[in-house]
Amino acid sequence: MKVTDHIKNAKGDTLFSFEIVPPVKGKNIQELYDNIDPLMEFKPPFIDVTTSREEYVYIEKDGLFDRRITRMRPGTVGICAAIKHKFNVDTIPHVLCGGFTKEETEYLLVDCHYLGIDNLMALRGDPMKGEKYFKATKGGNNYAFDLVKQIAAMNEGHFLHEDVEMKNRPDFCIGVAGYPEKHIEAPSMEADLKRLKEKVDAGADYVVTQMFFDNQRYFKFVEAAREVGITVPIIPGIKPVAVKRHLQMLPQVFWLDMPQHLISAIEKAKDNKEVRQIGVEFAVQQSKELLDYGVPVLHYYSMGKSDNIKAIASELF
Ligand code: FAD
Repeated sequence: MKVTDHIKNAKGDTLFSFEIVPPVKGKNIQELYDNIDPLMEFKPPFIDVTTSREEYVYIEKDGLFDRRITRMRPGTVGICAAIKHKFNVDTIPHVLCGGFTKEETEYLLVDCHYLGIDNLMALRGDPMKGEKYFKATKGGNNYAFDLVKQIAAMNEGHFLHEDVEMKNRPDFCIGVAGYPEKHIEAPSMEADLKRLKEKVDAGADYVVTQMFFDNQRYFKFVEAAREVGITVPIIPGIKPVAVKRHLQMLPQVFWLDMPQHLISAIEKAKDNKEVRQIGVEFAVQQSKELLDYGVPVLHYYSMGKSDNIKAIASELF
């Protein structure tokens, strides 16, 4: 079922959902199942599965390093199919511009349609590891906007090459990313919102936000989005802090601010076990305020272990 239909069917109740990361190549999928299993009691209507870009690896041979390109966490669509089948839940693959030609994206969309996947999260992707700026793949989509257009065209019955007739069209529900604290590359919030509006006008059905720790940023973002005519659901993304290192890493990677009282509590924590507990308590309070605001879904970023997401969900759902 489409995310937008899940939201409609909830009739104003807030839903619980989460995002998972595929296992590193060579690892067992059981670990992933073991992390999803405890969260199923909170009845997530959908689970997102991220996609990782290709990256360079250096292989030593006779004292020399040979640079190769590989994907360390492949299999997003396969994992979506496996989870959908095992847990009887909708799964949402993240589809990237970076690293894929439009042809490869088309094959992926065809696979998703065959597998009964109804929702896709359309994203540009970040620059490759070690590169400062995003470079579009030759023959690939430049921006998420172009990817949304490609998916919307398929929904309308058009493949990239018009000579193939589409007798059985998909009807994908399309999610896109939004940034309550502005995307790092956008010259202003206003410019970023204009780009978000373009994605929605091209066919995006809902927005999921980047993580944030200050709800006021989200409230202002929703208000500003409504002012520029974005009417689709805007789902807040929440990340419980789990380790001390997140104090430096999250602002650096995701370009966000953290409240001083959270920073001070984490700095004072004696170990990461305590940090994890602080992260849970903060996320519970943050989520309660978002629930009062009437958000359609509370969407959690679970990078790996899900015990903290379970602790949060137990307080709220
Ligand atoms: P876009 O919407 O294309 O925007 C990128 C930048 O370009 C923005 O600054 C925008 O303002 C600007 N822009 C847009 N259109 C134009 C234009 N026509 N001309 C000039 N500038 C323009 N990354 C992954 O690699 N894998 C994932 O699974 C993944 N999941 C994510 C899930 C969520 C909910 C979010 C919020 C992010 C996720 N990301 C993921 C990160 C995302 O790929 C990066 O933030 C990326 O840098 C931007 O992606 P986007 O889809 O927002 O890009």
